[in-house]
Amino acid sequence: MPEIEAPALFDNSPAAPAIAPGDNPLLEDWTAAGGLPPFSRIRAEHFLPAYAQGLAEHAAEIDAIAATAEPPTFANTIAALELSGRTLERVDNVFSLLAGADTDDALQEIERVMAPQIARHLNQIHTNAALFRRIDAVMATAEHIELDAEQKRVVERYHTSYRRAGAALGETAKKRIAEIMERLAALGTTFGQNVLADEQAFTLRLEGEAELAGLPDFIRESLHSEATERGIDGYAVTLSRSTVEPFLQFSDRRDLREKVFRGFVMRGDNGGATDNKAIIAEMVRLRAERARLLGCADFAHYRLDDAMAKTPAAARDLLGAVWRPALASALTDRDAMQALIQEDGGNFKLEPWDWRYYAEKLRQRVCDFDETAIKPYLSLDRMIEAAFYTAGRLFGLNFTPRPDVAVWHPDVRAWQVSGSDGKELGLFFGDYFARASKRSGAWMTSIRDQQKLGGDITPFIVNVCNFAKAPAGEATLLSFEDARTLFHEFGHALHGLLSSVTYPMIAGTNVATDFVELPSQLFEHWLEQPELLRRFALHYQTGAPMPEQLLARLVAARNFNKGFATLEYIACAEADLDLHALPPPNPGDPPLDTRAFEAAGLARMGMPDEIVMRHRLPHFAHIFAGGSYAAGYYSYMWSEVLDADAFAAFEETGDIFDSATAKRLRDCVYAAGGRQDPAEAYKAFRGRLPTADALLRKRGFARLPLR
Ligand SMILES: [Zn+2]
Repeated sequence: MPEIEAPALFDNSPAAPAIAPGDNPLLEDWTAAGGLPPFSRIRAEHFLPAYAQGLAEHAAEIDAIAATAEPPTFANTIAALELSGRTLERVDNVFSLLAGADTDDALQEIERVMAPQIARHLNQIHTNAALFRRIDAVMATAEHIELDAEQKRVVERYHTSYRRAGAALGETAKKRIAEIMERLAALGTTFGQNVLADEQAFTLRLEGEAELAGLPDFIRESLHSEATERGIDGYAVTLSRSTVEPFLQFSDRRDLREKVFRGFVMRGDNGGATDNKAIIAEMVRLRAERARLLGCADFAHYRLDDAMAKTPAAARDLLGAVWRPALASALTDRDAMQALIQEDGGNFKLEPWDWRYYAEKLRQRVCDFDETAIKPYLSLDRMIEAAFYTAGRLFGLNFTPRPDVAVWHPDVRAWQVSGSDGKELGLFFGDYFARASKRSGAWMTSIRDQQKLGGDITPFIVNVCNFAKAPAGEATLLSFEDARTLFHEFGHALHGLLSSVTYPMIAGTNVATDFVELPSQLFEHWLEQPELLRRFALHYQTGAPMPEQLLARLVAARNFNKGFATLEYIACAEADLDLHALPPPNPGDPPLDTRAFEAAGLARMGMPDEIVMRHRLPHFAHIFAGGSYAAGYYSYMWSEVLDADAFAAFEETGDIFDSATAKRLRDCVYAAGGRQDPAEAYKAFRGRLPTADALLRKRGFARLPLR
């Protein structure tokens, strides 16, 4: 089961409607359908009874393991735990997929009801004293020495995660932690739903040429699609990132840019029922209290103790080393943009809603190309092909369309994935287009994870993105950033698809948060290679390759505006660490003022007024909608140290598809899951640990003297 953070209060949950188990598609045997859920027959009312059965089954299995009369062994304790909870897991996987990618009021209500219940259930297991005594005993037995390396690692992971959950604590502390976990789960769910509600509530309708001024055809088309999907005539700007960013980049209308910008950065911060600020204050307080109960100074120390970075100081050192050259670069760009404004006869100071617009103008001047020139060469279908081709060259994978398999929305595509020996590795699903029922952002998830313990189970892996969909019959065109997102999420997908371990505990992406972005960010590197672009960046109408000159300029412009991108990211990573370094408040302390906290942090860092955080705290889903990146947002940059250095391993051979390097990468990283400590896994691939030099070079900051 994924680690889910959570809390209490489910006495007001609606009674599960009476559905006989035989009539519930979630509880059927899916073997005949190749293990896939029958999506077309699954309705919202099936989830509560299926969850109820899954929870009851799992609880009974756990009780049986904890009460086993025989002395603890790997088989009767660890392997038995690994095989438990399968019904709950498959129900939860389907639910989580739909709750993110195609939700509605009924699913949101179920999410509010179930998040605390699941949290309570998992917490009860993770703090079960009898169970922990058995896990502890397996660590200490003579048998432990006989276990193979993977089994040893699985035992250690169990021991660590139970200890970190509080299994060794006294009953009073455990009871309080249980309350905290349930409450956190409820708050996290509400946080995510509030952001979605604010996104759904905002639509800027554009009418007439004056309001469309500056927008190239591809943006007009996608705004028209957005309008049509919402039943509006004409054009509509909504708050998905892949709509907002191009609008800010191209719209000549400064007043409309400001309107869209404000809508985007104020998500979750609008007062009223969907405001997230009080939720943030409570979540931060509860996490701090939990960390103290678990013997750590604060939540950040608690969190990083089980990460590759080990301490918040190590993470901050890296962020600090990159901040200074990034700031210098951003300030140079800012001054150049201010000069452009003056040149154009503008008599105003550059504001945050102007940055992308003037950055685009500056890019056209400095790098001699604009986004509209490259976009026709980046069709979604070609970029999917490019990602598949790269996976083929590196790992021998083949992708065969499977239009016959069940999916959850008509836009979803499915492929069968097989290895060079023809062996089926799993299924890959791409759910690429933005829609109102989907939360924003892009992510990888799974319907089923790889393992070999309960049979040779192949994974079903999903990528969800929010690309603006072209009108019917036309090719969807991506920005280079969109294409990068596609490669990023596909890198995560490969981590799930190539997984080749026995135990679910360490399968696929079940690795440290600051290691998990290595497979995804590393994969982005291939997109930038001329060899790949020549083959796949083909004009969507004529099929002509991208002109060499344009390609050279695109590659050369790779680091344009990187200062800005780095600052908007680091500001979030620092705020995340700062928030989670706060001690629990004393009685009588005023509640955390989120806005003041944010502003003080930015001032301390010296953030230029013209740049805002990539995710302001009230919509920072990574750290508050669930807790998977809480005190862990620095992970993207931590992993970038690894990915920049890892790609250099290919470059050093003179072949970006070098087969020996690719084989090591597959064995040590993509197929290995959490079989090894992350630093050991990296060393096994590269022969050494990396330094931040490759990262600075990659971001184009190497020329600056570092202090
Ligand atoms: Zn990622």
